[in-house]
Parts: sequence; structure tokens; C-alpha cells
Amino acid sequence: MNLNELTIKTAREKLEQGEISAVELTEACLAAIKKLNPELNAVLTVCEQEALDEARAADQRIAAGDQSPLLGIPYLCKDNIMTKGIRTTAASKILESYIAPYDATIIKKLKEAGAVLLGKTNLDEFAHGASTENSAYGPTKNPLDLTRVPGGSSGGSAAAVAANMCLFALGSDTGGSVRCPASFCGLYGLKPSYGRVSRFGLLAMASSTEVIGLLTKTAYDSALVLKEIAGQDELDATSAPEKLANYEKELVFSNVKIATQKPLKGLRIGLPAEYFLPGLNKEIAEHVKNIAQRLEFAGAELKKISLPHTEYGVPAYYIITPSEISSNLARFDGLGWGLAKTEAADLQSFYKLNRGIGFGPEVKRRIMLGTYALSAGYYDAYYKKAQAVRTLIIEDFNQAFTQVDLILTPTTPHPAFKLGEQVNDPLAMYLEDVFVTGASLAGLPAMSIPAGEVTTEEGNKLPVGAQIIAPRLREELIFKALGALEE
Ligand code: GLN
Repeated sequence: MNLNELTIKTAREKLEQGEISAVELTEACLAAIKKLNPELNAVLTVCEQEALDEARAADQRIAAGDQSPLLGIPYLCKDNIMTKGIRTTAASKILESYIAPYDATIIKKLKEAGAVLLGKTNLDEFAHGASTENSAYGPTKNPLDLTRVPGGSSGGSAAAVAANMCLFALGSDTGGSVRCPASFCGLYGLKPSYGRVSRFGLLAMASSTEVIGLLTKTAYDSALVLKEIAGQDELDATSAPEKLANYEKELVFSNVKIATQKPLKGLRIGLPAEYFLPGLNKEIAEHVKNIAQRLEFAGAELKKISLPHTEYGVPAYYIITPSEISSNLARFDGLGWGLAKTEAADLQSFYKLNRGIGFGPEVKRRIMLGTYALSAGYYDAYYKKAQAVRTLIIEDFNQAFTQVDLILTPTTPHPAFKLGEQVNDPLAMYLEDVFVTGASLAGLPAMSIPAGEVTTEEGNKLPVGAQIIAPRLREELIFKALGALEE
């Protein structure tokens, strides 16, 4: 096995035993990026020198007996998260040469933990999309089928993990952007609760739903990284003060006999009728039901539940988030940020010129939709109404969590689609988010886990995910269920 194919857990063991060094591990990942990235376009910036320096420093800490769980572990970061001294583009032309002057809190934490940053990954521009085709730097391809998308908007991160360019990657999830690519690339994709992880240094898209999330090869790796990056941050007023659980401990069911000891006894799992409508791909429905049965075998109790306002999730999301986008992206005016093309005659034309050249079509579409929804005369009809619908969706979940501890659903309505197939049909692209916007609007933790494979029209097999949603700030419940599945 090549070193870049290791999980975090095994790599840590080998590092600790001195079998491998952080430099060797980092070199293996850098070599994989060099070899595969020209085809995949998953990584926008590689910071080779910095990575090797960090790896050397990690080796010294390891030699001195430091046992931090992410010490010497190479990772990639979505390019909408600030990394000091390294280009941060949000896959937009407007930030083409932007060098972040500070580290996002989460990058700072990972630096302190001794993880090794390899570079920055491709995304839909400003995280607007579900396929990574909306990048100003070209689409990312799915490593499992080069004719297909990796999902989005954290598609570069997912493709990079699936292609073993790194051991884990950071993404962001505003309405599915970690979970959808995890489903399409056969990975674990965790969107923590809103507020669980600091957003300081994440380029704002829709501040009321977005969260930094993780793409990993195993559930255990996800638990390890979450523990390192979560927690309250004085630089993010929306970060939650609640205590963190010992996530990876929840996962370890070794020495437990699932069949007789039933470790999930007492855990109630809800299957919402609205997520299993007759149109759902049959194989996906089967895979999710199979996971439900495995959880039941481990002692969990399955319950049919209802989340009656599910169908309004996508429409509410596509009013609320463009509204926030239109406000958040106002700062990219070409002056403080951006291109600074100066040949304009006056300030108004300066803005027009810079924003006109700097933003791609999907970003412009969302700014226009959002500005419209917030404008006088339409605010009550659109924005306010969408917020009222959001409250109903939150209440659906509150009600459901009086009956169950976790909710199990599909992540995406189908496997990865073809590059170019939906890129000119924004509505079809928005409907990709049908199963993922609910947890985002309600701020709940949700994880996509590999559920099985689906046969495509060409007869290929492609992965699809199942989604587990927990009550706010109860990520440990997801890991508990996964512990039983892994056994
Ligand atoms: N598909 C969603 C959108 O386009 C996902 C965005 C995200 O989570 N960043 O808005």
C-alpha cells in the first residue's frame, strides 16, 4: 500500500512506531497530487515547500514524544478558507491573486495540532453549486469516473480524498456541499452542527447555515479531526459554548458482540416518509433500508416518522441563501478585495467593471435573486415568507426528535451525474439539494456515509451515500451509530 492511501488512524500508528516519517507521508501525497491533478483538477494551489517544512517540524515533535492525534497528517483545504500567506481564491476570478493575511481559526488549530497543509482545493465559485463545475478555474472530475462530476461545492476536497492525494480534506457545507460530494465520491462527509466549528476565516456565503465540514476515508478519521477543530471561538460569536464529546470513543465497539450485546439498545432511529417518495432511485432506497436493518440488528429501534415541510426546503433555501449571498458578496467591490481594474471613469463604473469581470454567472444569478428577494415591496413576499417556512422546517425536526434520537435518509437522489449534463439548468442543479437543505436550515449535524453502489445506464457501479442527522450539537450520536455499523 502506498503511504498516501493510509487512513489517519493507521498513519498515526506508523508515525508513532517510527515505521514512517511525516516527510515520507507528505512526499507520497505531493507525488499523488502531481500525478493525478492534471487530469482531476481537484487542487488549485499546492504549497509544497511549506508542507515539507511543516512535515519536518512534525517529525521533530514526534521524535520528542508528542502524541497529538493529527501530528504529521497531510491534508487539503477548500479554497474558501483563509490560509495565511497562501492564495485563497474561492474559485473566483475576483480573488485570483488574493493572499490571505491571516489563518482561519480552524487552520490555526490544525497548525497547532501539527497537521500538514498540502494546498487548496477547487470548488464551485464561492461554494455556489452541487457539481464543482461553477469554478472559474475549470471543473473537477470524479476520480471514480472521469466523465462525471465529483459533486459540490466541496468537489475538489472530495475528489482529492477519494484519489488519495491527502489523508483528509476540509470542506464547507451551507446546503449540502460536504455531504453531496461525499455521496458521489464514496466518502464520509460530516457537516457539524451550526456553531460547532468556528467560521472565522471562512469566506462568507450564507452566514446563517454554513459550517466547515470534513471529508474522510473512515468514520473514525472524521471523529479524530472533529475533536481537533471543534469548540467555541471568541472570534466567531455564533460558535457554541457547549462541551465537546469524546467522539472517537463513541465509535469503538471492538470486543462488543453486536448480535448478543446489542450496543445500540435504546437508540431510536427515524425514517422520514418524505425522503423515501416513490420516485427515489430503487437501489438507493434499498441501500438506506439495509443500513437501517443493520442498525436494528445492533439493537436500535426503527420508527417511521414525518417531516411534513420537507418539500419546501429547497425553495426556502434558494430564497434565504441568495439573500445572504447578495449581502455577503457586496464586499467584493474591487477596492478592498479583488481585481482593482482601474480604467473606470467613476466609482459606479469601477464597481460594474470589477464585479462584472470578477464574478461568474451563477454568483451573479444568486446576487440578483437575493437582491430581488430583499428589495422593498418583495421582502415580505419572499424573504420573510421563506424565513417563516424555515421555522416550520425547524419545528418538524424538533417534533421528530421528541420521538427519535437520529434520522436516517438518502444523501442524494442519484449517483454522480455527467459533467456538463446539468450545468445549464440551474433549477435541476438546485433540486440536487432536496435531501440536504433541511439539516442546513435547521443547523443540525448530518453525515453522509458510503451506503453502497448504484448501477449507471452504462453499467458502471458508482457509490451513493446515506445521511444520518442528529439533534443540534449531538454529533456523538452519529458516531455511536457508526461504531455499530463498522463492527
Ligand atoms: N448546492 C448548494 C448550493 O448550491 C450547496 C452549497 C453549499 O453547501 N455551499 O447552494
